[in-house]
Amino acid sequence: MKTENILLALEAKHPGEHEYLQAVKEVLHSIEDVYNQHPEFEKAGIIERLVEPDRIFTFKIPWVDDKGNVQVNLGYRVQFNNAIGPYKGGLRFHASVTPSSLKFLGFEQTFKNALTTLPMGGGKGGSDFSIRGKSNAEVMRFCQAFMLELWRHIGPDTDVPAGDIGVGAREIGYLYGMYRKLALENTGTLTGKGLDYGGSLIRPEATGFGGLYFVYQMLKTKGIDIKGKTVAISGFGNVAWGATLKATEMGAKVVTISGPDGYVYDPAGISGEKIDYMLELRNSGEDIVAPYAEKYGVEFFPGKRPWQQKVDIALPCAIQNELNEEDAKTLIDNGVTCVAEISNMGCTAEAVDLFIEKKVLFGPGKAVNAGGVATSGLEMTQNAMHLNWTEAEVDEKLHQIMKSIHEQCCIYGKQPDGYINYVKGANVAGFMKVARAMMAQGVV
Ligand code: GLU
Repeated sequence: MKTENILLALEAKHPGEHEYLQAVKEVLHSIEDVYNQHPEFEKAGIIERLVEPDRIFTFKIPWVDDKGNVQVNLGYRVQFNNAIGPYKGGLRFHASVTPSSLKFLGFEQTFKNALTTLPMGGGKGGSDFSIRGKSNAEVMRFCQAFMLELWRHIGPDTDVPAGDIGVGAREIGYLYGMYRKLALENTGTLTGKGLDYGGSLIRPEATGFGGLYFVYQMLKTKGIDIKGKTVAISGFGNVAWGATLKATEMGAKVVTISGPDGYVYDPAGISGEKIDYMLELRNSGEDIVAPYAEKYGVEFFPGKRPWQQKVDIALPCAIQNELNEEDAKTLIDNGVTCVAEISNMGCTAEAVDLFIEKKVLFGPGKAVNAGGVATSGLEMTQNAMHLNWTEAEVDEKLHQIMKSIHEQCCIYGKQPDGYINYVKGANVAGFMKVARAMMAQGVV
């Protein structure tokens, strides 16, 4: 494979789409060896077909705010690849949403979903709408206007959206209500739904819980117990909450959470009612963590990221590229044992390279955070069977899935010296499944 040529051609075709090009570059570098062992892949143009989304829907979302003013946002759905199952992936409502960011997320989702062992293709969507400062009524009107366009392109066996940054239980409720009305059916086309209307137990916790199950497996390869370890977490939304809950339950001590305003350092550990308070903070809609520091009398570091603290485990849980090379250096100098992305592409390419070079246990998002979408897959199964599994049943399945993802990473990522390159392992395992499915189905 001429990786550099493919990347140059992509850059020329999609100038300035940095996040998308970053995600593609990482995967192509990882799979180069295995790709070269399969000349039939090259003949079938697998890479050229895999790096471009099947299609992107772009639409305008006009809506009226509380003052009666007309607002216009942009909406997208990127249907990336459905070779192994219906398109599946979240919707992100955030000011940073662009076609490039959604293409990177849809690309990552394709491999992540392949790793889950469930039949799900990759997709992603969203809008540049920000829920910050919006009233409940405004959020509802926006979600309804968004779905007025999107509903035509989705369905239980076509494309199944879910939540992501800015899209939680409330937004899914409003989106689903409008979908159900327009499509005249109730088959569970969105996941992350409320428990009363087809949602799955454990889905809200799943991304964070799955992340910690994966970290547990990573530490186990080194014979390290998570009990008593200190953990830095970024973000304070749904993912950070689930991760804090499970890390604490496993006996670790979470000492940081963060927001766009800075981070808080709580040396006593974020546990008990402090974890519940994270939900309150999130629901306030203000997108700041400083009130935590005031409430619990701990230190707040305005404008800073939590990676400057000395910890055993670092878990980015906020957004892409939130941990850079300098942060990686600081963490390594401070003796970090394990870094696992629970956000999608949480670390910059330079940071990832450094962790691998220094043989730090490093888990990439598409493996570590796959528990969220995997549990969405379990929600789809329950909807299709018209029944609900118990909490214990869902949690057990999530456990097994995370264990299986870890095993796949080890199979493809173990180096001769015993170090497990999880980036390579996850990319090769995900790629092989999608590539085999595409080969079997011809050039379409
Ligand atoms: N947004 C989550 C992710 O990045 C979940 C997607 C889903 O549940 O479909 O994987």
